[in-house]
Amino acid sequence: MLLDPFRRKINYLRISITDRCNLRCRYCMPEEGIPIIPHEEILTYEEILRIVRVFASEGISKVRLTGGEPLVRKGIVGFVSNLSQIKGIKDLSVTTNGILLREFAQPLKRAGLRRINISLDSLKKEKFCHITRKDDFERVWGGIEEALRVGLSPIKINMVAIRGLNDDEIESFARLTLSLPLIVRYIEYMPSGNGEEWKETDILTIPQVMSHLEHVGKLIPVPSDRWDGPAKRFRIEGALGEIGLIGAISSHFCDDCNRLRLTPDGKIRTCLFSDEEIDVKELLRTGGSDIDLKERLLMALKKKPERHSINTHQFKKCQRNMSAIGG
Ligand code: SAM
Repeated sequence: MLLDPFRRKINYLRISITDRCNLRCRYCMPEEGIPIIPHEEILTYEEILRIVRVFASEGISKVRLTGGEPLVRKGIVGFVSNLSQIKGIKDLSVTTNGILLREFAQPLKRAGLRRINISLDSLKKEKFCHITRKDDFERVWGGIEEALRVGLSPIKINMVAIRGLNDDEIESFARLTLSLPLIVRYIEYMPSGNGEEWKETDILTIPQVMSHLEHVGKLIPVPSDRWDGPAKRFRIEGALGEIGLIGAISSHFCDDCNRLRLTPDGKIRTCLFSDEEIDVKELLRTGGSDIDLKERLLMALKKKPERHSINTHQFKKCQRNMSAIGG
């Protein structure tokens, strides 16, 4: 079992397998994109598999692939198949913008993926186009339908709620859960990314989201299970699906944080908002042993901060863009 200095059990690794993305969401990136990590600096799948094998032998049991956009990386299906067979990995998931999901849902399911998170900030075609700067709403919706059809479960739809941008859609997203077995999750807008300037007044806090939801129906709390992240779960009375609320800012769930992150260029990050990074790529490429890798993992654990500092005057936006950390 991996314990950090604050006695938190760390069992979750989020892996950003690429910093490339096929969308340009306003709050994340400028239209022209941001400088990308050169190919040769990006961990190969073999390198990632080795890291996961070693970390799984120490207590990592949950892995999420993210990015950038993970489905744009070639060979993702074979990679998922190999990951799903690693002893000790009990929960494997992918976070995607859904653009390529229509093509990939079935092959990924066959490769061993059970569940998926899809990011979607608007159900309106024009608004989607405005936020992402791409006219691809139908492709994403087609991807969600395909994920439902092939039986990926649960399917979580992640919506970053931003005041003045999509707060008029909180209720329409919730209504999706009435007739579809989707888990719609509202995420507080965080100060990260290199997109349009983040302002505290843009955040729609979870209590504010809840007050919108009450117009849709009675919210019934759902008990969390062991694989749940920081989301508070609810079901609208009579709904097929569920609601999740993720208050990264207003409810500070650092006390229960169980995660580490791996960047595309092989750095372990101890917190989304900390620039502390522990290099494993250099170790892998200079003949480091599995024991050396375990040592780096323990080093990362020791450096995990007790909490992020978003709500304090010491807060500094992190150096890397979200696309190169994995949101
Ligand atoms: N391309 C994939 C996707 O769209 O899900 C994975 C990477 S993306 C960086 C992961 C998630 O981070 C998305 O749901 C995105 O909306 C979210 N995200 C990016 N910037 C954010 C911010 N400033 N606050 C909250 N969530 C953010």
